[in-house]
Amino acid sequence: MRSRWDDAEASSLSGLDLLVHVSRLIGAEPSLVVWGGGNTSIKLTEADYRGRTVRVLRVKGSGSDLKRVERRDFPGVRLDDVKALFDREDMTDDEIVSYMDHALLDPGAGRPSIETLLHGFLSPVVVIHTHADAVLSLSNNDRPRDAIRAVYGRDVVSIPYRRPGFRLAKDVAQALAATPKAQAMILERHGTITWGATTREAYESAIQMITCAEDAIAERRRGRKVFGASRVAALEPVARRALASAIAPRLRGRLGSWDHSSATRTPSQYRRAVVAYDDSPEILDFVGSPDAARLSQVGPATPDHTLYAKRVPCFVDVDRLDDPSNVWQAIEASLDRFVQDYTAYFEANRFKSAELVDALPRLVLVPGLGMFTVGADCRAARIANDFYRHTIDVMAGAVLFGDYVSLSPKEAFEVEYWPRELYKLTLAPPEKELARQIVLVTGGASGIGRAVARRLAAETAHVVIGDVDEAGARKTAEEISAAVGAGRALGLAMDVTSEASVRAAFERTVLEYGGLDVLVSNAGIAHSAPVATMALGDWLRSFAVNATGHFLVAREAMRVLLAQGLGGALVFVATKNVMSPGKDFAAYSAAKAAEAQLAKVLALEGAPHGIRSNIVNPDAIFQDSRLWSPEVRRERAAAQGIDPDQLEDFYRRRNLLGARILPEDVAEAVLFFASDRSAKTTGCTLTVDGGLRDAFPR
Ligand code: ZN
Repeated sequence: MRSRWDDAEASSLSGLDLLVHVSRLIGAEPSLVVWGGGNTSIKLTEADYRGRTVRVLRVKGSGSDLKRVERRDFPGVRLDDVKALFDREDMTDDEIVSYMDHALLDPGAGRPSIETLLHGFLSPVVVIHTHADAVLSLSNNDRPRDAIRAVYGRDVVSIPYRRPGFRLAKDVAQALAATPKAQAMILERHGTITWGATTREAYESAIQMITCAEDAIAERRRGRKVFGASRVAALEPVARRALASAIAPRLRGRLGSWDHSSATRTPSQYRRAVVAYDDSPEILDFVGSPDAARLSQVGPATPDHTLYAKRVPCFVDVDRLDDPSNVWQAIEASLDRFVQDYTAYFEANRFKSAELVDALPRLVLVPGLGMFTVGADCRAARIANDFYRHTIDVMAGAVLFGDYVSLSPKEAFEVEYWPRELYKLTLAPPEKELARQIVLVTGGASGIGRAVARRLAAETAHVVIGDVDEAGARKTAEEISAAVGAGRALGLAMDVTSEASVRAAFERTVLEYGGLDVLVSNAGIAHSAPVATMALGDWLRSFAVNATGHFLVAREAMRVLLAQGLGGALVFVATKNVMSPGKDFAAYSAAKAAEAQLAKVLALEGAPHGIRSNIVNPDAIFQDSRLWSPEVRRERAAAQGIDPDQLEDFYRRRNLLGARILPEDVAEAVLFFASDRSAKTTGCTLTVDGGLRDAFPR
């Protein structure tokens, strides 16, 4: 591993600022720390609130990520207060936390990490703790002492696994006191500790320690295929993704409708999840290897892994992928077995306050196919994925030194059901209306589609934006992701008149998020001409987009929703013209009437499966709209006998409320139909037109 130290960057920094800088260098290295793992500290002299000089320990607080850490993420605690604890025999986590509240230099500063004592009990000025993959490979095998000795000689002390807390902090301090010449320390099956009189010294020591482990691994690996020749060969990419996209919605449906309580559920009570697919070469190599079935069940590389990914993944025992129904049966059987095993693990290790919330896997490994990761949202699924990729790296190194070992089930359980971590979960805000849901919006690059995508994303739906304008779709997706979170939106090229393009967009959606809950079929075009002079091509084009386009999109959505079995909502953006057609607007009005009829038939066909289908009829949305091209404006103005400049005002004044209708107004109506607010409504038309007597639904 290369040191990222740069004199030019570091020379102007000192004290806590330099530690913040170096912490980010560590966080930037994914193989050192993942998702909030690891921490750093520095001991400084500061003035307290009365101006007295005190020794202060600044240590990264819990809940922040080294990659983006800032000064304020390092709450200060009085070092004397920390050191005063050293003579105690033991302390519970709760006792440590409430004690630390008193030792804080600034009341109300972020909560210090449970590992504060570990940093405070060590005397060096700067202390760095990482979860480096390469070093974990040395410790997560059945001969850790031999492996560590072979690489480091006597320079590195290794400490047997213990859950983070008071006793571990004391073990570490006592071990260093007993071996004052030690250069660094390994917490077996957990991570590394390095230190220094300066921040640079502690950092370079960490890099050096990790580089030694990496070199030893590279040396042993030379000429070897890590997990051996594959047992199940990976399918070709096209076939692989086709099979994965057939399986993902069924998997999502099975996980979402799992009956924990045996009580019957209404559609809104399904516990949906995001299911993300990964078929990268490293994953395929591992899941197809002869040892994957056994290795995958050994356990996590580090304790924090269990919080997002559980102790072990669900490994699906298949060796042939030619028959999709056979693959699905194997997945179902493996899920059943996982739930049984997980429940037994819970019962065997449970303590009084522990509650079994769900026994379902976060990772599903299928040889030849890849890995599905499961989370309440794309972020949680991504974290589980990251943790497992690092576990694979650690295993790949560990098997070079012996047999891979991990925490015992009991040790894993202690972390997974750590009361402090469970307490953190209770602090999370309640889920929003469309949490855990996946929405596809067609025509989402502008106008109504874009407003709908934004509105539903604000209710924390994951949103896929399809549009013939791919750049526009991506732009909308980027804006949404920037506003509500990375990965929350996906912009795709999608031509609703092309069967292949629609299929491809749904395949992407399903591989990215696992399925679908809401389709907003919105893409449309306008054409204005009297029937007597209308070209056949214009008529057909309007039908291709405004009628057939809705059919192709709805058909694909129905396939996914039926495979999933969790119900769903179809929302069709139609037009006031369905009820009240305008002259010179035959191609548009007739095709949109077909759309509305399609939506009503879908209400009939979807109802037995909990799938609702509803229609929104807007009128005269000009803002951000591509429907109103200059040509259409001119033609519509001519049809109404007015000047094109007067068009917007004309439409505003013709409705009962005299209202200007905005895309955001339509988005509110779509949200109503997309959500459980309208759980008892299907086959319905809602107008968003300011009130037009001729267009009243009847
Ligand atoms: Zn740690």
